[in-house]
Amino acid sequence: MKAAVVTKDHGVDIQDKKLRPLQYGEALLSMEFCGVCHTDLHVKEGHFGDVTGTTLGHEGIGIVKEVYSGVTSLKVGDRASVAWFFQGCGHCEYCNSGNETLCRNVKNAGYSVDGGMAQECIVVADYAVKVPDNLDPAAASSITCAGVTTYKAVKVSEIKPGQWIAIYGLGGLGNLALQYAKNVFNAKVVAIDVNESQLELAKSMGADLVINPIQEDAAKIMQEKCGGAHAAVVTAVARSAFNAAVDCLRAGGRLVAVGLPPESMDLNIPRLVLDGIQVVGSLVGTREDLKEAFQFAAEGKVVPKVTKRPLKDINAIFTEMEQGKITGRMVIDLAMS
Ligand code: NAD
Ligand code: ZN
Ligand code: ZN
Repeated sequence: MKAAVVTKDHGVDIQDKKLRPLQYGEALLSMEFCGVCHTDLHVKEGHFGDVTGTTLGHEGIGIVKEVYSGVTSLKVGDRASVAWFFQGCGHCEYCNSGNETLCRNVKNAGYSVDGGMAQECIVVADYAVKVPDNLDPAAASSITCAGVTTYKAVKVSEIKPGQWIAIYGLGGLGNLALQYAKNVFNAKVVAIDVNESQLELAKSMGADLVINPIQEDAAKIMQEKCGGAHAAVVTAVARSAFNAAVDCLRAGGRLVAVGLPPESMDLNIPRLVLDGIQVVGSLVGTREDLKEAFQFAAEGKVVPKVTKRPLKDINAIFTEMEQGKITGRMVIDLAMS
């Protein structure tokens, strides 16, 4: 079967791979769709270590083709996901306290184990979340990482209805952050991006305020218009956005770090202490978060903007991503040639 495999020179090659036989508790998915996340770009560039030979993909959606013994949560014909949180140990303090994505022995799809950017993928059945029947599978793929990550980040922000939340970066993640914040949490949303086409998309999705920080001082505008944001979710792949987000917050505000530029951010200590600013990281979401994120999409509260592409386009998609040419999500359609 064909798979998008990371090469030594940080490229991606479409290779024929033979999967190992299934083991206890595992299921085989025949893949339908797999979204291309900016994390895949970090992974193949080696930002988190060398992963040569690994199959990419953690926004995978497929149909169960086969189940091995020990599988009770999935049956042949079910539609299920391949997410970044692929498997936890199941018995550590994190796994047992609702923080399973922080498990120290976690497995991550498309990074430490082969992912869903392939015609077939092996999953641990208990960790593959079922997709609701009334959710379009291409849209579901975008929810599997971008959706659950931003749904969770908005939860972590502790935003309340009517409060202001700033979303930095309106790309694949950010446009879903906007929709969850507005349509599920009933917050007021400020969309901040350096790319005008992302701001257009944000406007069309109901952003209350859009700001291009290249042209305007976002922090100043927010302090003037709403007294500073109650929270900020930063998905931008730029250190400058993390620094700017601290400035846009009101006293007691909370910055939720989601984007993964391989850099450090600045934190002014008096600002942190005197204004009681909180900075917290948020990593994807638990299986329960994904179930909830799917359900809101199935109800039409969140509608991912997806463009279907064939597997062979993968390197072109990464180039477009680096050049900031993508609005919404590019989703590999495994049925397209
Ligand atoms: P993307 O490329 O689709 O979107 C990034 C957006 O940031 C673009 O719209 C870009 O124009 C914007 N941007 C760049 N510089 C900016 C700046 N200075 N100010 C404001 N906006 C700016 O990427 P994506 O798929 O949405 O992923 C975003 C980041 O989130 C990546 O680093 C990815 O690895 C990370 N991520 C984290 C998690 C997690 O669990 N924390 C999960 C998935 C992805
Ligand atoms: Zn991702
Ligand atoms: Zn664990």
